[in-house]
Amino acid sequence: MPEARCQRTIGRAVKISGRGLFHGCDVRVRLLPADPGVGVVFRRVDLVGRPEVAADVRNVAPGSRRTILCCGAAVVETTEHLLAALAGMGVDNCIVELDAREVPAVDGSCLPFCEAILAAGVVSQGVKKPEPMRLPLQRIGDPDGSQWVECIPGSDFVVSYRLDYGPQSPVPAQSQAFAISPDVFLAEIAPARTFVLESEVEALQAAGYGRHLTGSDLLVFREDGSLIDNQLRWADEPVRHKILDCIGDLFLCGHEVSGRIVANRSGHRLNQLVAEVLQVHVANAETDVEGFLRVA
Ligand SMILES: [Zn+2]
Repeated sequence: MPEARCQRTIGRAVKISGRGLFHGCDVRVRLLPADPGVGVVFRRVDLVGRPEVAADVRNVAPGSRRTILCCGAAVVETTEHLLAALAGMGVDNCIVELDAREVPAVDGSCLPFCEAILAAGVVSQGVKKPEPMRLPLQRIGDPDGSQWVECIPGSDFVVSYRLDYGPQSPVPAQSQAFAISPDVFLAEIAPARTFVLESEVEALQAAGYGRHLTGSDLLVFREDGSLIDNQLRWADEPVRHKILDCIGDLFLCGHEVSGRIVANRSGHRLNQLVAEVLQVHVANAETDVEGFLRVA
């Protein structure tokens, strides 16, 4: 059985700034230490009353290609990469102050967030965390079986991902798996950047998204598989980024988990559904549930 550890926060306040990935707004972020039990809470300091929204799957709002959190006036978009950094580095409690509606894109990865967390220091708070939740055996997917996530009980937290957009895609099929620890996360996952196909860019920009971006701000794949103004950090950088997204989205379930997540072509919406299922599983206080769940 995995052991409970003490909760952790960051040692001091740190700042990060940049432009949002989708909206391009200039945003300044301050990560602040938080008390045990607080979790991760986003605070919009640019709005009257400085409204807050907790990083909890119950606060997820609809939005494609990113994870949006909303509670009253507190709307924060593209939270997943910062959440992945906090989860990957083992930070449980943190206040995230920001002065615009979107987390900065930084370099398209979450490495700059991890570096800020390392600069602040990760400190134990002397208060035990609940034991990691043993993943219940289940499979969650879409009706045609093209996207799914399996949860498999186990003692380590392992995330594996299969990316496959078909033989015609500029991004070749690729798989990767990691047993997640802060060292592994920092070295193998955090630097992996988000990506888009050149053929998708026009529609996204027509919808008002990412008009400020160039090929050096994220990975843009041409039809022939080459990149615009950029180079891969790994040959399989896209699948590593999908693992990063999974870790960020699953953090929203509110529990450290142990076991294996096996994801096939899942995106934010499916990751969020898995987080929701895991949260409900804990709320029902069921253990060793064996079953199969299919969510349309
Ligand atoms: Zn992402």
